[in-house]
Amino acid sequence: MAHVEDLARRSVAVVLGTRPEIVKLAEIVRLLGPAARLVHTGQHYAHELARLFLDEFDLPEPDVQLTVGGTSRGQQIAEATGRLDAHFAAEPPAAVVVQGDTNTVLAGALAANARGIALVHVEAGLRSFDRAMPEEHNRVLTDHLADLCLAPTEVNRANLLAEGIADERIAVTGNTVVEALQRLLPPAAERQLELASFGLQAAGFVLATFHRPENVDRPDHLAAILGELGALPVPVVLPLHPRTAARVRAFGLEDVLAKLVVTEPLGYRRFLALAAECAALVSDSGGVQEEASVLKRPVLVVRNSTERPEVLGTFAELVRPGPDMGRVAGGWLAQLDRLHLRLAEEPGPYGDGTASARSMAALRQLLARSG
Ligand code: UDP
Repeated sequence: MAHVEDLARRSVAVVLGTRPEIVKLAEIVRLLGPAARLVHTGQHYAHELARLFLDEFDLPEPDVQLTVGGTSRGQQIAEATGRLDAHFAAEPPAAVVVQGDTNTVLAGALAANARGIALVHVEAGLRSFDRAMPEEHNRVLTDHLADLCLAPTEVNRANLLAEGIADERIAVTGNTVVEALQRLLPPAAERQLELASFGLQAAGFVLATFHRPENVDRPDHLAAILGELGALPVPVVLPLHPRTAARVRAFGLEDVLAKLVVTEPLGYRRFLALAAECAALVSDSGGVQEEASVLKRPVLVVRNSTERPEVLGTFAELVRPGPDMGRVAGGWLAQLDRLHLRLAEEPGPYGDGTASARSMAALRQLLARSG
């Protein structure tokens, strides 16, 4: 795919700060070529959530590296907004691109808006309708500030229209996670080596991820989740997010972890190798729900709500922490071959891997209009 040679060097600021933002913006950065100005806020600063992902996607050192990690939500948004504002004042880009629903996204949106710079929101229009989630507020606010809302699905477009966002500001693109996954999914032989390194059999284990405050900041929820995972009849691999690791220590739950195959957070290739070969996923992640639909694996979503209803009833089932986890996952494991065969036939809702290219086309139109 050709780069966008007619855009000026470093003229599109791609603002990101966390692992999923790198995954889902990587292809857009690649397509922007020299026009991309990579701005990392430092919201995720640990190597295995930041630099490792930039390296895996062959992305360069960020042009601008801020450090806003590790503070409260309000401080994080305020600091990132202030620093982005100063940067945009010094070197105004023609457009700012943000993705998803993190504090970085809202800060990027506020800073772009304050400087009158065109704002593009990738993964717009997702709604959990759960006002207890900080992410819901981040995405609603960002969508309303955005000049261009790039909606993965028609469901997302309908959400935006229902909030009064004009149709001209919306383009439906699919989700950029599809091409990210296609790029980094290792071939079968490498996947087998990854399984062997954990002593696992294909379709003989569950892969779990947990990091959302509603699950890991409450000792009762975290204990229930880890207990249910430990009681499943197959090995459970748990790459431990730094936030979750800290809570396990704080709540004295180390013993419950002993029943699980605990690892450090995995790079994207290694994670995909396991996700492609597992029996099922159990997770509170947003991106993992989408990846399950591409890899044709069932995912148990342990949350109060999901902003991804497109996968419910096919690839995903929503449960609360507790016995429902074991009941649903146990049912899946008891009839796994049939379930995998059924999901293999199920079309994924997130498109064909062209979302980044479609996003680029919509961005060029926006820039041509704002000229
Ligand atoms: N992921 C990964 N390694 C891990 C756990 C997750 O590469 O050990 C990837 C996962 O495949 C997905 C992304 O990280 O693409 C999800 O990140 P996270 O759950 O932090 O954010 P969310 O998607 O919930 O915003």
